[in-house]
Amino acid sequence: MEYQSFLIKYAEIGVKGKNRYLFEDALVQQMRIALKKCSGAFTVHRTSGRIFVEAKGACDTEEVVNALQHVFGIVGVCPMAERPIEPYPELEKDVVAFFGEEYPDRHRTFKVHCRRQDKTYPMNSQEIDEALGGALLDAYPELKVDVHHPDVMVTVEIREKIYIYTHILPGPGGLPVGSAGKAMLLLSGGIDSPVAGWMMAKRGLKLDAVYFNAPPYTSERALQKVEDLAAEVAAYTGPIWLHNINFTEIQLAIYDKCPHDELTIIMRRFMMRIAEKIARGTACGALITGESLGQVASQTMRSLECTNAVCTLPVFRPLIGFDKEDIVTVSKKIGTYDTSILPYEDCCTIFVAKHPVTKPILDVIERHEHHLDDIIGEMVDKALETDEIIIVDAEGKRVLKHREDPLTGGM
Ligand code: ATP
Ligand code: MG
Repeated sequence: MEYQSFLIKYAEIGVKGKNRYLFEDALVQQMRIALKKCSGAFTVHRTSGRIFVEAKGACDTEEVVNALQHVFGIVGVCPMAERPIEPYPELEKDVVAFFGEEYPDRHRTFKVHCRRQDKTYPMNSQEIDEALGGALLDAYPELKVDVHHPDVMVTVEIREKIYIYTHILPGPGGLPVGSAGKAMLLLSGGIDSPVAGWMMAKRGLKLDAVYFNAPPYTSERALQKVEDLAAEVAAYTGPIWLHNINFTEIQLAIYDKCPHDELTIIMRRFMMRIAEKIARGTACGALITGESLGQVASQTMRSLECTNAVCTLPVFRPLIGFDKEDIVTVSKKIGTYDTSILPYEDCCTIFVAKHPVTKPILDVIERHEHHLDDIIGEMVDKALETDEIIIVDAEGKRVLKHREDPLTGGM
């Protein structure tokens, strides 16, 4: 079947009142970006609460639908046949032929639903519903009408053209990327953080990301894994600016000067401090982590209190109430799971204590952090100077800012 255009259904945006156009603009923009990856040329246009994609010439329907199914804000994609405004007898012929091609097996129930926006069309919606219903029954006697729960809803929209569709393919839902602002994702190589980023992007956030790298304790392949995860998330969000920060010196100093059962908490506090500094410098309004309550010692309620205490930006933890199994399910659905389970070491797994505190006391943690007072300011500044910015998207990566590495003298 050849489709010339696609109707886009979007739910939540529809209730945004006066700001609705902002969300629609953001959605149209994200759709245009997604369609650039498809072969062929397209126009995306809005008319009275509807968004249409029209192919200029031939297009690969599967490719277009797949691209649109990665755009947050879309709840349904309807591939449509498009006809000029034509008299009823021709319309009837077209609808019968369309149905026949779409459903070779006609042992189904159906209902016709016409929307007539062009009120000059000589029949009204109800007359068209009835006439087309009768014509379909005549043409395909196996069909049955069910007005309440039909297997197939045959929709005919009469506007500046006539559009016919029967399929609504599901979109990812949510809000268009960028419509809620931008946030900084702490992206490690695990299962959780890519899912956390995806979930917040689904709520309309554009994502930047930061990865704390610990060379030579972590390998280049660990960084590659994080880039790959960023690319997989970017298939939904558009390009992600990934900040690759050398965290080795800070990690060694913590290891050297602080109690080992508090290593992870103190390390996490430094990650949050640095992430917040980068976030504030790059117009990000929040931090995002993949933390889930009770998953590990550093994610108990008291541990989260200690981690939270170092930053003033809101910290979004969309997985906080998720079981690991739930997280794995999402990660498989969005396509990050296979990369996440690759074995390369991440910095946290190397510097872990055998018995980390599960109920840290903020005062005590702060007191122990004072052991680092005379060196830490400089170390944080140095770590920030190592910032290498890698722009990652689904098609590849581009290094925007190379590392001037004051820690290792260039890597
Ligand atoms: P993930 O949570 O991504 O599966 P993980 O479970 O190994 O990895 P945790 O040790 O649970 O990670 O860390 C909790 C959160 O802290 C992560 O979800 C991530 O947001 C952040 N984080 C941990 N390590 C790093 C890192 N090396 N770089 C950036 N962020 C990190
Ligand atoms: Mg985790």
